[in-house]
Amino acid sequence: MSPPTYRGRFAPSPTGPLHFGSLAAAVGSHLDARHHNGTWLVRMEDLDTPRCVPGAAEDILRTLEAFCLHWDGEIIHQSRRSAAYEEALQRLKGSGAAYPCCCTRREIADSALHGIDGPVYPGTCRNGVTAGREGRAWRVRTDLFPSPLGGEGVVEFDDALQGRLIQHLESEIGDFVVKRADGLFAYQLAVVVDDAFQGITHVVRGADLLHSTPRQIWLQRLLGFATPAYMHLPIAVNAQGEKLSKQTLASAVATDDVVATLIAVLEFLRQQPPAELRQGRVEEVLEWAVGNWKPERLKGCRQIPAPSGVACAVRTT
Ligand code: GLU
Repeated sequence: MSPPTYRGRFAPSPTGPLHFGSLAAAVGSHLDARHHNGTWLVRMEDLDTPRCVPGAAEDILRTLEAFCLHWDGEIIHQSRRSAAYEEALQRLKGSGAAYPCCCTRREIADSALHGIDGPVYPGTCRNGVTAGREGRAWRVRTDLFPSPLGGEGVVEFDDALQGRLIQHLESEIGDFVVKRADGLFAYQLAVVVDDAFQGITHVVRGADLLHSTPRQIWLQRLLGFATPAYMHLPIAVNAQGEKLSKQTLASAVATDDVVATLIAVLEFLRQQPPAELRQGRVEEVLEWAVGNWKPERLKGCRQIPAPSGVACAVRTT
């Protein structure tokens, strides 16, 4: 066990109740933190207010409690942290790393190549917005030389499970948005500011965010923040190979048989809970899981089918 310097977090977006996949991310980050005698925080990523569902944050917290995933300290809410994001944006502007952009989604889609995460912004407004138009969004440059990462803006990092990831931000992602045209701060900026604010040393989350990590490392360097260690857990997919989510109609995690569900999550995470734990209490299952946490069993694994019965991908349309 390592010294108690580990600080991890679970950062759900309250766009709906936890489903099997998001519960697996919560359990994985909790186990990793507790296995290292660390602190485990919960942060509500309720920044994208139009997508937040009333009552979902409370529902998520009740579910975490039902599974005895007790968190440390205060929960922070991104919706109340605009001042911190604004300050970070000012610093990016001040150093010339951020610039205003007037392009519409349509214009970008028409002129850009498609990358791993949507259109690669071609840099249209880098040297100023088109005459007569006003910049509403703010983007961060990915072509800064000398690059804050050394080399030519190539971000390299070693994920504990997914191995080495190398991304050339400018050609694979393009200058990315840190403040949206609708005035909301972008996830990429908020998560970096909050991870630094909360002193997070280890980020354990779903592999759907693997390709966002280089953008976050880029921002950490531009803002002078430390880079945490990253571990991206496999995401749960349904029979069609789609990520469980509200869009794929994943059902909410049931809390009537928490022991059975927790054991299913542990099996999904390739832990091997002994059969007799099925008769145990949820606290006992968790204690076993903390002591026996072996994430290396998930090496190289980006997605795993959710057990049947929890994916619930029956489409109504
Ligand atoms: N809020 C993000 C989500 O629910 C997770 C962010 C993170 O863990 O960095 O997908």
